[in-house]
Amino acid sequence: MGRYPRIAKAHAAHRAPPNLADYDAARRDFSWATARTLLDGLPGGHGLNIAHEAVDRHAAGPRADRAALRWIGRAGERVFTWRQLRDATNRVANALRGLGVQDGARVFVLAGRIPELYLAVLGALKARCVVCPLFSAFGPEPIATRLEIGEAELLVTTEALYRRKVEALRPRLPALRHVLLVGEGDTATAVSGTLDWKVTVEAASPDFAIPPTDPEDMALLHFTSGTTGRPKGAVHVHRAVVMHHMTGRYALDLHPDDIFWCTADPGWVTGTSYGIIAPLTNGVTNLVVEAEFDAQAWYDVLERERVNVWYTAPTAIRMMMKLGTEPLKGRDLSALRFMASVGEPLNPEAVLWGVEAFGMPFHDNWWQTETGGIMIANFAAMDVKPGSMGKPLPGVEAAILRREDDGGVSEVTAPMVEGELALKAGWPSMMRGYLKEEARYRKCFAGEWYLTGDLATRDEEGYFWFVGRADDVIKSSGHLIGPFEVESALMEHPAVAEAGVIGKPDPVAGEIVKAFVALRPGHEPGEPLRRELLGHARKRLGAAVAPKEIDFRANLPKTRSGKIMRRLLKARELGLPEGDLSTLESDER
Ligand code: AMP
Repeated sequence: MGRYPRIAKAHAAHRAPPNLADYDAARRDFSWATARTLLDGLPGGHGLNIAHEAVDRHAAGPRADRAALRWIGRAGERVFTWRQLRDATNRVANALRGLGVQDGARVFVLAGRIPELYLAVLGALKARCVVCPLFSAFGPEPIATRLEIGEAELLVTTEALYRRKVEALRPRLPALRHVLLVGEGDTATAVSGTLDWKVTVEAASPDFAIPPTDPEDMALLHFTSGTTGRPKGAVHVHRAVVMHHMTGRYALDLHPDDIFWCTADPGWVTGTSYGIIAPLTNGVTNLVVEAEFDAQAWYDVLERERVNVWYTAPTAIRMMMKLGTEPLKGRDLSALRFMASVGEPLNPEAVLWGVEAFGMPFHDNWWQTETGGIMIANFAAMDVKPGSMGKPLPGVEAAILRREDDGGVSEVTAPMVEGELALKAGWPSMMRGYLKEEARYRKCFAGEWYLTGDLATRDEEGYFWFVGRADDVIKSSGHLIGPFEVESALMEHPAVAEAGVIGKPDPVAGEIVKAFVALRPGHEPGEPLRRELLGHARKRLGAAVAPKEIDFRANLPKTRSGKIMRRLLKARELGLPEGDLSTLESDER
């Protein structure tokens, strides 16, 4: 912290004047009412709808025939102008109406980054449905749990994913009335209990008028994980688009006619707020790359597509760093103006490597599923302190709080003193609740402060520094993983009596999921069982969530109330001090 020299803001000054040129002035002059005026609202004063701001208003204006979405698939490319995007998403909205899917119905999307995913999300928002994109690398269990909690009425997915991950669990999902399958090739899919996308959507009318939409209507549902219990569905409303738009402009410095590439999958909140909504509302070309990470392929995209603004994640940056700067030699990346990163701590070395490899730092920013949009950022017009998350957005007030014994909180004002990162409630994209989990939602607040669950410090210049999570949630390759979900899947195996799951530091992924299990009588620890359990977890949970390592223990350390002490498992694994053991009841030893 502070060990690295700051990187002066002048680095990008010659490329384009930043949208936010003077941080202090922008904060001082900012109001949410003014931010709202950057958007149109539905014609006739009929409210605010994300899809109108992202699609229809540009389709009716001077950008109508410019590229809104440029999709680079594994086996081909497609471009949608705003006009084409409007018509294609209108077809989706009409198809949903034709199926009797009403306002407020939950529409889930489970797919890789294929064009239909983007059309489904925007079309469902037009029809005033609530959209929930799911990560396609999830296994059947996390998918079914989320469809269940969210009471999915309609699912858009591919034939392959449906057969592999959903079909067998459909009896658990009585609310799921329709499944729309995107097939491969030109022939319609014919899987029993499903409808074909082409037949249903492409035959629908391209004319649709978005009905009046209350800005407080629920628009998006994003699942996130806690330490205990089932995943939580964070509810976001149409008004969130004010935040998406404003942060796209200020934190990502999007300029009209930019080519923008967000590498995140829409199954995670970044891939929706910034992989779909913010670029479109800002009128920039949104580049979507279907393939997974590959450094050479990514550099090809940056160069060939002349990407101006690039939003990616620390795990990918660390993987690129491992290859050095050699693969970048001789490439023309002169279009690149701004690089940002999110999702996990970005090491100072990675920020500096940006300068070495691309001639500019990676600008770290911080936010989470619940906040709906970027909260703290390194702005283009600000000195970057490598290792810091930056400063709060205009309109966002952040503080470091300490929880007091009486249940209250007090603000930590001294610089570089650790506490919980908190945000003053009131920005437009704040979650409006966890679906059907009022108590869990209320626990996030202390008076007007929303408590983020992250530990951080603030320095004397107002930059925030990430310290760690205040809970046991795991961040692996940027994905938030709830240990409880992993433990539950392991416990389903007949050999497992108890399971405790932790995040183990990893130089590339940030953390990997590691499980400790105690076996039922009659089962022998050993390599064959370890492999079987790893395979079982992978099949149930999917590769992104399943543990990478499993260790056997005779017993797991537990509190008097029988809770497994993950903190202690982690301290022992890492050789750290074991801390306060007063609640320890039974131990592994
Ligand atoms: P998610 O809700 O999946 O987006 O995860 C949010 C969590 O990711 C935050 O609460 C942090 O723990 C972590 N996170 C996100 N961005 C950053 C960042 N820039 N630096 C450190 N941690 C981050």
